[in-house]
Amino acid sequence: MSKNCPICNTQIIIKFAPFCSNRCANVDLSKWLNGAYSIPTDEIGVDSVNEFENIDDD
Ligand SMILES: [Zn+2]
Repeated sequence: MSKNCPICNTQIIIKFAPFCSNRCANVDLSKWLNGAYSIPTDEIGVDSVNEFENIDDD
């Protein structure tokens, strides 16, 4: 059973796995980068990190 590209749902090409093409790989990468850049890093400090650690401990 073959997997499909998570971006456009076309059958993937091994060369570009897990995507169907370099273009879709770039689209996914752009999503990651845009998401990272959209985070206001000035507001993420030690306090935010501690909150996540506390949740993990629970
Ligand atoms: Zn694709």
